[in-house]
Amino acid sequence: MGKALLISGHGKNYNGTYDPGACSIFGQEAAYTRELVSMVSQSLGKAAGVEVYDQEKNCYSYSKAGQAPDYGGYDLVLEVHFNAKAKKDESGDGKFTGIGAYVHPDNVGGWAIAERIVDAVVSLGFGKWQISSSTGLLNLNKAQKAGTKYLLLETAFIDDGDDMRWYNANKTVVAQTIAQVISKEIGGITSDVAPTPPENSQAPGSSQVGTDKGYVPGMYKVHVKDLNIRTGPGTGNKIVGSITDQGTYTIVEMSGSWGRLKSGAGWINCSTKYCIRTGDANADGSGAEPEDHTKAFEVRVKINDLNIRKGPGTSYDKNGICPPGVYNIVETKAAGGYTWGRLKSGAGWIALEHTVRV
Ligand SMILES: [Zn+2]
Repeated sequence: MGKALLISGHGKNYNGTYDPGACSIFGQEAAYTRELVSMVSQSLGKAAGVEVYDQEKNCYSYSKAGQAPDYGGYDLVLEVHFNAKAKKDESGDGKFTGIGAYVHPDNVGGWAIAERIVDAVVSLGFGKWQISSSTGLLNLNKAQKAGTKYLLLETAFIDDGDDMRWYNANKTVVAQTIAQVISKEIGGITSDVAPTPPENSQAPGSSQVGTDKGYVPGMYKVHVKDLNIRTGPGTGNKIVGSITDQGTYTIVEMSGSWGRLKSGAGWINCSTKYCIRTGDANADGSGAEPEDHTKAFEVRVKINDLNIRKGPGTSYDKNGICPPGVYNIVETKAAGGYTWGRLKSGAGWIALEHTVRV
């Protein structure tokens, strides 16, 4: 079995100062590199012959001061970084900048692993930046001299809102994916346990995006064969259906890892165990969505003054009041921040936010 070294980019310098790396509203690069390396290491488990370079140190700075790791003692060195753009795009423009790497042009083994990692993460639904040839990086050159496979992974762009929202929602599965490539390379075995982000690992500012654990609304691809749809967020709620097509669905609201389907069909658990976030929904809330909008379901109206509208939206004329009771909904449409349901009776549309699924 081979040996691998995982290095978390940036951190505390040899002279005691701190190099945070790239920074954005999502946090500091040095915090993200440490979190990801910890998760990859956890996913690999102890049996895999993997060492983590001292996370209290900035490897680059210590190497410059003459205390470089003994690269020759490893078969593979993975140094983790997060990239930064020339022009920040923190709010996101709907496009990923993506994952990439730097590899020495003669480091054939490093190239192969970089390609495998980048392709594997891209296949989770992320964007590809590029794998770049470099001869100007200290650690990269030292590893090259030692004849060790080396790659510097640029995991995502820390100042690209699209990248970081996707990454924060999917980092557990990203870590597992990287661990699988490494374990194949060095002949180790990955643990069956999904890695969990270390306690207090959330980088400063990262709480500004998303909700609990970084789950945010958007497009989610189901990757299990059968995923329950429930009336509310949590397994304590009634099952009202299931998703069996492994399709991509629009989630319009999160409660922890639970997401409300735009169709009004109910809630699904968007945990990375079951789903992969593939991107933001389009600005109008639409997206490629194979949901069945025509399936009828029942809702209970509890309030006394729910308007019936002639169409799906508050701009349509009122057509009376929908009194408390149970109603059949035969079609749903999103408009003006509400999900509207068409009453089977033909009386018109009601805002489903004011109802509960039966
Ligand atoms: Zn960096």
